[in-house]
Amino acid sequence: KLISIGNMADVDFADLIEWFDEDDNTTCVSLYIEGMKNGRKFIDSARKSKKPIVALKSGVSAHGAAAAASHTGSLAGAAKIYTSAFKQAGVIQASDLNDLFNRTLTLSQQPPMKGENLLILTNGGGVGVLATDAAEKYGIPLHFAPPDVQEELKKHMPEFGSAKNPVDMTGMAGNDWYYQTTKFSYAHKWTDGLVVLYCETAMTNPMEIAQSIKKAVVDSGAKNKPITVSFVGGEKSDAAMGWLVENGIPAFGAPDVAVNAMAALREFARLQETKNGGEYKTNEKAKKAALEVINKARADKRDSLTEIEAKEVFKAYGMPVTSIALAKTEEEAVALGMKIGFPLVLKIVSPDILHKSDAGGVKVNLKDEAGVREAFQTILKNAKAYKADADIHGIAIQEMAPWGTEVILGSVNDAAFGPTVMFGLGGIFVEVLKDVTFRVTPVAKSQAEEMIGEIKGAAILAGARGEKPKDRKVLAEAIYAYSSMIYDLQDEIKESDANPVLVYEEGKGLKVADARIILKAK
Ligand code: ADP
Ligand code: MG
Repeated sequence: KLISIGNMADVDFADLIEWFDEDDNTTCVSLYIEGMKNGRKFIDSARKSKKPIVALKSGVSAHGAAAAASHTGSLAGAAKIYTSAFKQAGVIQASDLNDLFNRTLTLSQQPPMKGENLLILTNGGGVGVLATDAAEKYGIPLHFAPPDVQEELKKHMPEFGSAKNPVDMTGMAGNDWYYQTTKFSYAHKWTDGLVVLYCETAMTNPMEIAQSIKKAVVDSGAKNKPITVSFVGGEKSDAAMGWLVENGIPAFGAPDVAVNAMAALREFARLQETKNGGEYKTNEKAKKAALEVINKARADKRDSLTEIEAKEVFKAYGMPVTSIALAKTEEEAVALGMKIGFPLVLKIVSPDILHKSDAGGVKVNLKDEAGVREAFQTILKNAKAYKADADIHGIAIQEMAPWGTEVILGSVNDAAFGPTVMFGLGGIFVEVLKDVTFRVTPVAKSQAEEMIGEIKGAAILAGARGEKPKDRKVLAEAIYAYSSMIYDLQDEIKESDANPVLVYEEGKGLKVADARIILKAK
């Protein structure tokens, strides 16, 4: 069935997903999405769907997004938020229109790939290598087949063939070898998914090869296991692929596309495991403490918290923040500094100065009393020079956190999905490379771990170039805590960030060195 839903004045994607889930004649739901208003409703109904859902989101380029005019905000960010929301909803994303149709065909004809073991059969080395590359690219890298499987497969190829995986029967393969290897591989318990490749040769008839593959699948007796096929050739191969598709086996003209189709089946299986993050319960105690801080700022007619207040809110949710206190005079600064212990960091505290370093409002690595005194005066002078009428609360005296790997946590209120958190490496990684990832809150613990693993800089946190691995466990807990904070306080917080968060070696945790919270207007 094809439904064009126009401007969704009444019926939206979520309604249709629910309807198709009940429809006996539907095996896969395929969506073309420019934008949506109620992203949370979409996530809820997609999560409940028992059927595979594939989505193509358009307007992911900055210009394309403007053309779709779906919503404001950071456009590149919005595209990433959709990708994350799809993952959380268990929706498989397509990269373009061809991919949407290829993946839809595959998911409507084949069951999910439930394990990691992909086996590739081929009569041509070249397409075998292309398929192997694609397998790695699309997240289902090949493993060598176990010895007993190799032994059996060797019976159906010449001496110079290869039974390792990809299994190359060579150009000598005819109907019988295709039949035997397909039947055996498809039935074998090691195989979780089978991709059969064929290059048209003068000695073989594509239609007969296709029929041999289909017969092998039926005769194997195996069920609930996916297979995709690629024939590379001319008109005869095209006709044979048409026959395969009519007979329930997805077939494509390029080996990488057949592997990509299998990857969609693998993704479907994986998403079924991860899409439901588990129940979320509001952290009532933390929320109460946070609201006290927020209400004080509101009583002051402020729409942002100071760093000291923001850190109180972060701390209430269990995030490790630097110890910090407000000094109104130089003497207070010294006394508080002695209590906290050197080395210290001094920073301006003013609701009118949000980017403190820009105003010369941050002095780090102060090692003694004289340093504190000097920094105190310099910061005040700089702040006044930066903004003469700034409302200055005083100077924050804080523990200097040891140097670590800088990461950033941030939050936005997305027009479609509401409170959403962002995570990435800090410094130039976020500014230049925009190496960040998003999740719609509340974020499950497993999803927090996924976030850490999916940024490009993941290797840095895993301990690249001889460095020790960073404390990803505590980092995942911090992302989870931050997500709780953003979700619980969604009526209060407009945007926030912790930048930088310094992450240490495994077992040594992390420290939030700077925190910022902007309130929603009330
Ligand atoms: P800004 O408002 O400009 O973002 P920050 O509080 O982030 O100010 O301070 C600027 C930089 O100083 C940080 O990026 C970090 O490198 C360092 N810094 C700030 N606070 C601390 C701290 N408590 N411990 C260690 N380094 C800190
Ligand atoms: Mg900062």
